[in-house]
Amino acid sequence: MKIPKGDLQLKVGMYYSNRDVRVEEMQRPGIGPGELLVKVIASGICGSDVLEWYRINRVPLVLGHEISGEIADSGYGVKGFKAGDRVCAAHHVPCGRCHYCINGHHTVCDTLFKTNFDPGGFSEYVRLPSINVERGTFIIPPDVGFEEATFVEPLACVWRAHRFSGNPAGRTVMVMGCGVAGLLHIQVARLLGAGRIIATDINEFRLEKARQFGADIALSGNEDIPGLLRSVNDGYLADMIILCTGATQAVNQAIKSIDRGGTILFFAVTDRDCVIPLHFNEIFWRTEVTFTSSYAGSQEDYARAMELIHLKKICVGGMITHRFGLDEIGDAFRVVSEAKDSLKVIIKPH
Ligand SMILES: [Zn+2]
Ligand SMILES: [Zn+2]
Repeated sequence: MKIPKGDLQLKVGMYYSNRDVRVEEMQRPGIGPGELLVKVIASGICGSDVLEWYRINRVPLVLGHEISGEIADSGYGVKGFKAGDRVCAAHHVPCGRCHYCINGHHTVCDTLFKTNFDPGGFSEYVRLPSINVERGTFIIPPDVGFEEATFVEPLACVWRAHRFSGNPAGRTVMVMGCGVAGLLHIQVARLLGAGRIIATDINEFRLEKARQFGADIALSGNEDIPGLLRSVNDGYLADMIILCTGATQAVNQAIKSIDRGGTILFFAVTDRDCVIPLHFNEIFWRTEVTFTSSYAGSQEDYARAMELIHLKKICVGGMITHRFGLDEIGDAFRVVSEAKDSLKVIIKPH
């Protein structure tokens, strides 16, 4: 049975640039076998949504990948979900069978890069294709709110990064860049028993938030970070650095701030053509340092993120600074791209 394509109008936030996001109407997608139609209740704006150089060649497009909502309709043959269920979903899902998936790198699978919601999370409704229903849709426990559930995606990415960067227990962890991702990293490092947590940012509001969310020491990114680090860390540099800003200054500070035997995890994206020269021997000879990276979250990371939010091991609600209706999405994008006194900004389409 094929469910007919809907003819209802759908209101969306259409992205043209960071300063130009328009409210437009398009046809509401119909759903086929195995698919779900989700009424979007809350939709977070991610730092990557305002990564203009990465988005601009594909505009206009409907962004939004941190969604939670209610199932409005389910296609023929859907198992495990029904209309009315509260869910959140992954926009990118892996094939589970390719070379990368088999080696545990599900998030660099070609299928993952090609999958997405239709049309995108800044919309009144989204269609979840059947592969997303099978591999990336999660029931929200009754005591977790829709807004909190929008953090499952960003926390899944953060959790994966920690899996890749090693055990922080008893070690000095430095988190550079204290937006939502940085604050989640601080909390996860604390949860996993990090010895000392040091945060850096160039924004005073975010340094204060870093302290609130568990950093022992917060340092201005405009200072001599390696020098300050030794002065507050018993003469040592950092054992683990998680870089949550793509600012060239911070990348260079990170390289100079990692101690022998340490690991730098590159979590953020730089400017499009950024090239960072490395003094090879100074960095790698007789140092045993590890440079690593992670991308997105796998099904396993999403499940874990939902559990951490459900058990209140990670506080997410306190990171929401702004809420906007879909009609005000242009203002919402301006707030996120200017950063200033904002952390998580949530769009509420209904
Ligand atoms: Zn994101
Ligand atoms: Zn794959």
